Amino acid sequence: MLAINANRLNARLQAFAAIGGTTKGGVNRQALTEGDRRARRLLAELATARGFRVFQDPIANLFVWRNGRDETLPPLLIGSHLDSQPAGGRFDGALGTLSAFEVLESLEDAGTITDRSVVVVVWTNEEGCRFSPGCMGSMAFSEGAIPGLWQDKNATDGARFAEELSLTIQSLPEAAMVPLGFPVHAYLEVHIEQGPSLEAAGIPIGVVKGIQGTRWLDVTIKGQTAHAGTTGLSWRRDPLRALTSAFSNLYNTVMPGDPEARFTIGRISARPGSVNAIPEEVHCTIDIRHPDPGRLDEIEMFVRSQIGEEADTHGCRVQILCAFDMPACGFSEPLREVISHAASVCKVQSMPMLSGAFHDALFVNRIAPAGMIFVPCRDGLSHNEDEYVEQEHIVMGCEVLAQATLLAANCMDPFPDCTALHTIEPTF
Ligand SMILES: [Zn+2]
Repeated sequence: MLAINANRLNARLQAFAAIGGTTKGGVNRQALTEGDRRARRLLAELATARGFRVFQDPIANLFVWRNGRDETLPPLLIGSHLDSQPAGGRFDGALGTLSAFEVLESLEDAGTITDRSVVVVVWTNEEGCRFSPGCMGSMAFSEGAIPGLWQDKNATDGARFAEELSLTIQSLPEAAMVPLGFPVHAYLEVHIEQGPSLEAAGIPIGVVKGIQGTRWLDVTIKGQTAHAGTTGLSWRRDPLRALTSAFSNLYNTVMPGDPEARFTIGRISARPGSVNAIPEEVHCTIDIRHPDPGRLDEIEMFVRSQIGEEADTHGCRVQILCAFDMPACGFSEPLREVISHAASVCKVQSMPMLSGAFHDALFVNRIAPAGMIFVPCRDGLSHNEDEYVEQEHIVMGCEVLAQATLLAANCMDPFPDCTALHTIEPTF
């Protein structure tokens, strides 16, 4: 069993929370900002001080490398992200990254040589709030290329992606460049659950079965603008009326009828937006999630039909575009067994669970078996400055990662289903 140093892990968590720390105890360390660069520099300094090699790739994913016995074998990757939401918590991403670094230091302390190299990875821009989409680093790594469209993206603060990426890479001149994407044995990530299930169950470790599918729809309904005072009911072609009628039906059926379904309207706008005019056009976004790909399709069809019917009833035209489609993913069964076994070695209770949010592991899972270890966060709260993880859960998450790392890094054979993972059906 590999012992970790809980005090050192806590000190690291505190040091990184201070970078971009907010007055309310959270962090604002958005991707590719100066704060993000400072956090990366700190990790690189700590790594170099311990004698680990540091690399980065063209999307600024950062790698801290500890050699194994056989360097010709694909390494085990462990890690998470260091970027945050604008008013984010101190554990989202940082917990997984620093737990992984603690495992590397613990291996060093114990003088343990693993068969495979163990590499801590910090994925670039997981959050996607400053530059969209999220998970840019892991997505580009799994595809072996940076989509050309990303280079011209502008941040919400006006910064250009290509420039911020280049500044970030330049800020670590000591980190040698490696090509985008290299063979990986497996990937392990500790993350806070960002939901209430573990806390409610009173179980400290979640072994993630997979990540549910997500689909975003952009809905536009066009009617006819007219005077609010003179236009009687039979003359109105009111797109807001059509949309809200459809909403009320969707709210009353989609989630109440299926406990696994998620249905959210997050943004709505009306044009011209005048107090005394019927809107000409309304727009809204819809976020639908479900672990079963077939059910996700059914819900999307139902949403489209409901909005279409209401638009017809009210004399409006409708356009619905799919803005984002993230298929559900099932994580490697053998790697899940490795994590469950690691939890039992640590004598902590674990339970299988789904992830409601997507993570870098979803993209890595397309090229190598990925596994996630969830720990509870207070009140299920995340993307919030009040995000909090109990001390004992921080330690348990890192201990389970340490044992799982030992098992996976000393596994000489590839995990059995790793080559076909991106084509297998989710296993939940
Ligand atoms: Zn995260």
